[in-house]
Amino acid sequence: MADPERRWCFADQLGPHFLDSGDQPVLLVESRAVLRRRRFHRQKAHLVLSALRHRAAELGEQALFVRADTYREALARVHGPLTVCGPTSRAADGFVRGLDGVTVLPSRGFVTGHDRFEEWAAGRGDRPLLMESFYRVARRLTGTLMEEDDDGGSGRDGGDRADRGDRDGGRPAGGRWNLDRENREPPPADGGLALPAPYRPREDDIDAEVRADLDAAERRGKLSFVGRDGPRRFPATRAEARRALRDFVRHRLPSFGPYEDAMLTGDPVMSHSMLSAAMNLGLLDPMECVRAAETAWRDGEVPLRSAEGYIRQIVGWRDYMWHTYWHFGPAYTRRNALRARRRPPEWFAELDADAVQANCLSNVLRSVRDVGWTHHIPRLMVLGNYGLQRGWHPAALSDWFHRCFVDGYAWVMATNVIGMSQYADGGRITTKPYAAGGSYINRMSDFCHDCVYRPTARSGDDACPYTAGYWWFLARNKERLAGNWRLAPQLRNLARIDDLNEIVARERHRGRP
Ligand SMILES: Cc1cc2nc3c(=O)[nH]c(=O)nc-3n(C[C@H](O)[C@H](O)[C@H](O)COP(=O)(O)OP(=O)(O)OC[C@H]3O[C@@H](n4cnc5c(N)ncnc54)[C@H](O)[C@@H]3O)c2cc1C
Repeated sequence: MADPERRWCFADQLGPHFLDSGDQPVLLVESRAVLRRRRFHRQKAHLVLSALRHRAAELGEQALFVRADTYREALARVHGPLTVCGPTSRAADGFVRGLDGVTVLPSRGFVTGHDRFEEWAAGRGDRPLLMESFYRVARRLTGTLMEEDDDGGSGRDGGDRADRGDRDGGRPAGGRWNLDRENREPPPADGGLALPAPYRPREDDIDAEVRADLDAAERRGKLSFVGRDGPRRFPATRAEARRALRDFVRHRLPSFGPYEDAMLTGDPVMSHSMLSAAMNLGLLDPMECVRAAETAWRDGEVPLRSAEGYIRQIVGWRDYMWHTYWHFGPAYTRRNALRARRRPPEWFAELDADAVQANCLSNVLRSVRDVGWTHHIPRLMVLGNYGLQRGWHPAALSDWFHRCFVDGYAWVMATNVIGMSQYADGGRITTKPYAAGGSYINRMSDFCHDCVYRPTARSGDDACPYTAGYWWFLARNKERLAGNWRLAPQLRNLARIDDLNEIVARERHRGRP
């Protein structure tokens, strides 16, 4: 058999599932220009370089590892045809498709292919492309958490037959597709979850070299970063990623379901996996995470509510975000349905957690500053919610999330930030904006206990910036949101607030919260 063509693997295609065989020749490129394009979090730059260099070291002579200023410069040093799996950003995809001698293959690293998503989307007709509906199709396609069903029905809670991804029957394990109702618990009243600390990789010589290179580039003014440097927290090799996955399944997956939406001051990780960066670097195949969770449930080690809750994040949300990035097209990332035009302030851009008094925001910003990561609810309900209430420009916020998080990539930003968090698409993927006052944060966290602001206060010196900000958001957008039936009661309440003018005036000029 002829040697397989050399596979060019981008720095987010580092696992074995991006190769066709164990001995396929590989091209890896470290481009300096990529780090100059944006002011990334220092630990993100470290993680990406470390993972790339570890992969090159692991592959040894099987890989041609080129360090150059730009990809074009690197490619000029490579002879012979190349293949590449579809890159994860529109810019990189356009670039590789314009190159001679490079064959672009279908993308890998996700659960479902674009064709299945498009087939499902076409079948939706005029109905909204709801994640929950796509999730059921993906569950059937992959046979995840499915049980035999003699009559070929779609499960006790019915399910939309038009959404069926295949002709096979089968019912969701436990009879329901979604166990959210049993989850979404506030954090335990007595403090923490008492779980062992999450897996942490040990740095090695490659990390030391990366740190020295980044320090030198920063000193010479070639690169500039946000956030603090610190010991690497996230896997940079497949072996580390697999260890982190095993650790998660054993220690934290059992309590993932009930506490997936909760937040605690002293425990930013809680039951979350911290595996998004490993998956987005391509070190883990998402299906191996899904199978590990399913096996743990089948073996009786994990309750279904946790296994299903976690699996939905990957088979459902992650794949859905990936496909909608391509499906909605480039104009989607420029959407600004609420005409939000303010620039995020300096303290936010610089991750200046100490400048902020609001306990929730200060804690979450600290986590971003110190590790470049926080779990889903702080991203959506603390950071995103604040930007939405304040009318910050969705594209600026999207750029901020992209740069400041170790797992941030272009494809994740579109529907997560522009759509879900900022409602800038006018409601194509959510039925209402994710705006909430301090009461939500108080219910789902312990942040408000010793905060200078009162979550129930919307006016006065101790008015919670989230509670007051919520009413300002509604007041500012009441015409644009008038047709939204889910917000109708709140919009009616707006007319009954006698101090609304005072709230609006105060919030419009609020400095650091
Ligand atoms: C405003 C905003 C910005 C976000 N930015 C990113 C980002 O830059 N990169 C990123 O991977 N995720 C992003 N997410 C999704 C989600 O918050 C993170 O995937 C998750 O918090 C990562 O932590 P974890 O690995 O512990 O996740 P867990 O809670 O353990 O969840 C399991 C896995 O599901 C996947 N997942 C869950 N939800 C999503 C989602 N909405 N989109 C994509 N994958 C999902 C992740 O791979 C994650 O590892 C964002 C969400 C919001 C609301």
